Amino acid sequence: MYRRNAGRQPSEHLVSKLRSHEDLQRRCGPGTAAYSAALEQLKSGKSPAASPECRYLVSISYRGLGNRILAAASGFLYALLTGRVHLVDPSNQMDDLFCEPFTGTTWLLPPGFPLVDYQSFYLHTAQRYGKMRENRVLRPESPDAPVSGGQATAAVAVLPAFAYIHLDYNQTDYDQLFFCDEDQRLLSNIQWLVVRTDSYIVPGLFLVKAFQDELAELFPERDAVFHHLGRYLFHPTNHVWGLVTRYYRGHLAWARRRVGIQVRVSSWESESPELLKTITTCTQEEGLLPRVLGKDQEPPAVTTTAAAAARRGLTSIAVVVTSLKSWYYEKMKGMYWEQATATGEVVVVDQPSHEEHQLYGVKAHDRKAWAEMYLLSLTDMIVTTGTSTFGYVAQGLGGLTPWVLPRGEVNGTAPPCRRDMSMEPCFHVAPLYDCKRWEDAGKIVPHVRHCDDMPAGLKLV
Ligand code: GDP
Repeated sequence: MYRRNAGRQPSEHLVSKLRSHEDLQRRCGPGTAAYSAALEQLKSGKSPAASPECRYLVSISYRGLGNRILAAASGFLYALLTGRVHLVDPSNQMDDLFCEPFTGTTWLLPPGFPLVDYQSFYLHTAQRYGKMRENRVLRPESPDAPVSGGQATAAVAVLPAFAYIHLDYNQTDYDQLFFCDEDQRLLSNIQWLVVRTDSYIVPGLFLVKAFQDELAELFPERDAVFHHLGRYLFHPTNHVWGLVTRYYRGHLAWARRRVGIQVRVSSWESESPELLKTITTCTQEEGLLPRVLGKDQEPPAVTTTAAAAARRGLTSIAVVVTSLKSWYYEKMKGMYWEQATATGEVVVVDQPSHEEHQLYGVKAHDRKAWAEMYLLSLTDMIVTTGTSTFGYVAQGLGGLTPWVLPRGEVNGTAPPCRRDMSMEPCFHVAPLYDCKRWEDAGKIVPHVRHCDDMPAGLKLV
């Protein structure tokens, strides 16, 4: 109810698929006989010979919160497409920040998982899928077998109980075979998959032929995939919700217009007057915020009813800035206090926190980060910083196509910001290989294109 932008409607097919997926999570999830049996199977080291009723995907949670959220959403969609139970690694506050998305069960991987060191699975891991493919320990077979139903015949007599899917930034060409049909067919016979990604791999899933029909039915609007997944999966726990509501009531509720500005800077970067200028030029030229008059100029005489209302404080604009630093917000706040706006509107600029440094494993820090992403998503218009997964989460939840600021060094000749192609996140480490040849993955299907903010990446439009 805090959002003026109600967002998109999910398709009926998506809704019914979510209901049946929730049943699967309850039927096979932690605490069930099926789960205990699957753990025993995992300990045995082999996947069952006959297709098992319950198969699993474990997502490792690592890096910043935006990364962890995008990775969990990606893992969930993959699980939905392939009929696997999705279990999230609870570390890094994933158990503290979000309500359980499926009623009657948990999506958190319980303690005592037999693969005790799964959080440190990496390139060296013997069961890495790319490595097993490279060494020909695993080989896909005939392309005629079905992909996601778990009915395919095994390529080798005995499949391992699990495979580790390595989709971190340093994935090899063999790891990228994950995005190929034949490999998906092979993977469907392995009971447990453990996946490491910090990325939004969804655009890559749209390139897998076997998933394309189902994805089209689930998401007739392809530019709203994370929007739906995010709103379904990620609900702040009470403490975080307290941070959201208290800020909302105090700083956003009363405003005629709410504008979010995400200034993603690192602690070692010094304050940049160029970036500040970019932000003010962007917001004023694109019509998000009113221009300011010169320091000694008086606001315009009251000539219209709108201006009269503005003078009486009835129309005002609330700006929520999020950043690790407070300098940008202080400068903007000062500017709108010291100088009148050309429209007579009042602009109130505020920032919930300035944590100065990005911290890992600190509960209070992560809670603020999540609350701030959520607050940005409650605005009417949003400015984000290019390549930031923090911004991607906010724009997707809000259903807002952002204006994007450049990340890093500001180039004086470039436009201050540009409107993105869609509200979808960018898949930063996208595959380069179309499963048969080296091909520009941004040209395979019309709705998967290269991102403006990261040209090697892919996004849905
Ligand atoms: P990305 O690095 O921009 O892609 O975003 P991530 O969310 O993955 O990682 C950045 C992390 O730094 C966040 O999760 C926070 O821990 C911290 N951080 C960065 N910007 C902000 C901010 O504006 N507010 C808060 N509270 N934390 C931030």
